[in-house]
This record gives sequence, C-alpha cells and structure tokens, in this order.
Amino acid sequence: MLQQTQVQTVLSRFYAPFLTRFPTLQSLADATEEEVLKAWEGLGYYSRARNLHAAAKQSAPTLPVTVEGLMALSGIGRNTAHAIAAFAYRHAVPVMEANVKRVLHRLTASETLTERTLWEVAQKFLDADNPYDYNQAMMDVGAMICTPTRPKCEECPLALYCEGKSTPLAYPVRKTKKPTAVRERVILVCEAGGRYYLSPRTTRFLGGLYGFPEMEVGESVVWQGNHYALDELRLLGGVEQVYSHFRLSAHVYLLTLPYLIGEATAWFTLTQLKELPLSGADHKVLQLVNQKNNLLSIHKIYTA
Ligand code: SF4
Repeated sequence: MLQQTQVQTVLSRFYAPFLTRFPTLQSLADATEEEVLKAWEGLGYYSRARNLHAAAKQSAPTLPVTVEGLMALSGIGRNTAHAIAAFAYRHAVPVMEANVKRVLHRLTASETLTERTLWEVAQKFLDADNPYDYNQAMMDVGAMICTPTRPKCEECPLALYCEGKSTPLAYPVRKTKKPTAVRERVILVCEAGGRYYLSPRTTRFLGGLYGFPEMEVGESVVWQGNHYALDELRLLGGVEQVYSHFRLSAHVYLLTLPYLIGEATAWFTLTQLKELPLSGADHKVLQLVNQKNNLLSIHKIYTA
C-alpha cells in the first residue's frame, strides 16, 4: 500500500479496513479479484492490488521466508523482499526506499548511483548484527533528518561518516520533471430504464475495475456500433483525475436509451453500482449522475 502512497493516507483510510476484510493470507487468496479491488478502491495503482492477490494465491497460507522465495511472488521485487525479510524475519539485508537512497547518495557524495551501486553501498553500510534497528534508523534519518531540502547535518548521527555533508543539496542530482501529459476523453453514461452500462476494464492500468464507456474526443462518438453526435447527447459535466503519468480531462455525456443494448449483464442499477470496484474518475462520473437525478427529483416535486 505504501508504494506511491503516503503513510498517513494509508493508515487513516485503508490499512485497518483491508486487514479486517482479509485478516489472513488465506482469506485474501480465497477472495475474488473483484472483492480485492473493491477493498482497494480509492488507493489507486490497482496493479498493486492484483499483484497482492496473485501473491497470496501463490503462497497462502504463509509467505516464504527467504529473499529469493519472496522475489518469486507476483509484484515483489528486491526492495519489497528485503523490507519483508528485514522487518518480518530480521534477516541481515538492507532496506531500500526513496529516503534511504537519498541518504546513501549523500553519505558517499554521489550525484547519481546506479541501482547496482546503490545496493553495494547499502550492503557495505549495513549493520549485519542489528539489521532491524539499522534499517529502521536509516529510514528515520532519511525521513526526519536528511530531508530533501533541509538536511539537519548538525543533528545527524551519520555526520561523522558523511562525505556529502558540506554540500548535501548537491546529492543526488535532481531529475527534471516532465510536464504531465493531458489525456482528453469523452465518457458516456448510457442509461436505460434506470440501469447504467459499465464493463470491466481490460487495460493493465485499471484492469479489473468497472468503467463507463470512455472514448476519443470527436464530433461524434460510436458506441455499440451506433454513431451519436455529441450535441444529441446531454452534457453532464467535466471530470478531472490525476494519475501517475497523465491527467485525465473528460467531458461526460448522458445517452438515454429506450431499451438495453449489448450484454444485459453489463447494465446495473445505482444500488448495484455501489458494489462494483470503480476508479476515482468513474466515482466522479457517478456523482454527476447522482446530481442530475437529484435535480430531476426536485424538478418533479415542484412541477407535480
Ligand atoms: S550528515 Fe547531513 S547530508 Fe550527511 S547523512 Fe546526515 S543529514 Fe544527510
């Protein structure tokens, strides 16, 4: 959960409910992917949930205890395997995360270190007799003392060994951020008799979640083989969602149909929709639908 997500966010909203829902590795392995994604909803980066689920299926009822065994599981690379081995099993292996990487660059006064050199340096500094305390201390120093912009070298327990302490901000060299790409889309809310059309997404990015039909921007859209001019459709509003590598900017249109088109199993009532795992963007679309329905209800009351 902590990959790409802040500790505070995870602790306040996700960690405890997820463990309550899946208290053992076996219960996670026995769950359907849809149930796991629903419990993960809001955390984003859904490949993590799919990998966690796959890893549980591969290893339940217990996790392997070696780094090699852990790395053989879906979604577990060297960083995660070392973190589990060091903190769960107290093995003498270094832990590597963003803060530790920064400390290692500064300790060695290195502008850039390759992954391989980083691991070599980490291994060299490791206190093999006290790996748990050492790793925890390195993470704490990185989070609280050797911070990105205001390192407190005068308070740092590593100052004696640190080669970069005279110019800490020079290490590591900062990568220039690429401007975020904007992906413009049309999202179609297809409604028939109080049911809405959503299908499982198949992309690697949001695979397993359900979604409203999403398409390229144009003067018209094609859905289920039929063309619809955008001006025939009712604009419900706009939706913005920031992802790791792009920003989605979508106009949401309502297509009211006299009957269900396509697979009947893809049509859901609003109550059924609450049980489906949806992306953040689709939750925002749903809010627009609810707003429209509320306005219609109020209008009916006043015109009755
Ligand atoms: S002495 Fe300064 S630069 Fe070196 S590790 Fe400590 S805080 Fe970071």
